[in-house]
Amino acid sequence: MVAAHRDSVPVGRRRTLVEMSIVVLTGAGISAESGVPTFRDADGLWEGHRVEDVATPEAYAAQPAVVHRFYDDRRAALAGVEPNPAHRALARLEERLGDDLLVVTQNIDDLHERAGSTRVLHMHGELLSALCRACEGRVRWTGRLGEFPACPSCGISALRPDVVWFGEVPYEMDRIAAALEAADLFVSIGTSGAVYPAAGFVQHARAHGAATLELNLQPSEVSRLFDETRHGLAGELVPAWVAELLADG
Ligand SMILES: [Zn+2]
Repeated sequence: MVAAHRDSVPVGRRRTLVEMSIVVLTGAGISAESGVPTFRDADGLWEGHRVEDVATPEAYAAQPAVVHRFYDDRRAALAGVEPNPAHRALARLEERLGDDLLVVTQNIDDLHERAGSTRVLHMHGELLSALCRACEGRVRWTGRLGEFPACPSCGISALRPDVVWFGEVPYEMDRIAAALEAADLFVSIGTSGAVYPAAGFVQHARAHGAATLELNLQPSEVSRLFDETRHGLAGELVPAWVAELLADG
């Protein structure tokens, strides 16, 4: 474990937890500890698929059945995974901070919500949502899309996974930017720092005065931009960090 500036735990511009505004960014690392496969495996494949074959608009246009099967299988697999101590610690922090905590996640699973978090923005969409290409409506979806079911709103068979593919614009960027600008503390958990725009959040938050903390398994591509970095399992680092905050507050 590495702990740069360990004695200067960033607590932000204000002094007590009860007055702090915190934005937490979570990435694949936090879900991986629950057994959710990540697409940045060592072999560069995602469940045996090349990313460009399943996670781009071009792939969907060329082979919609293949893309549906991939996301249908991942949606079904959610039933076999559970939130881990990192997810649950963030839910405990929300119990204390309420509206002053926002979780922005790159993950498309529902583990934050199942742990109890309610203020979660899914910037890359959600497995449990379908988006209609005909009426642009969204509907919660727990079944499969590969049989090309009719949209409950407009009746047209035009539902796609409500996930942001490579080449598409992430969701909620205006709300995320506003939250980063208002934050006293920005915390990045389990992200590689390789995928923009999320990789730029630390600089955005810093530029507007936030203290910054990275909790990651290993040094990320943007570790040097953080005031403090801690390395280890999210399931250990996040509960410890939350316990520190709650003790201080
Ligand atoms: Zn529709």
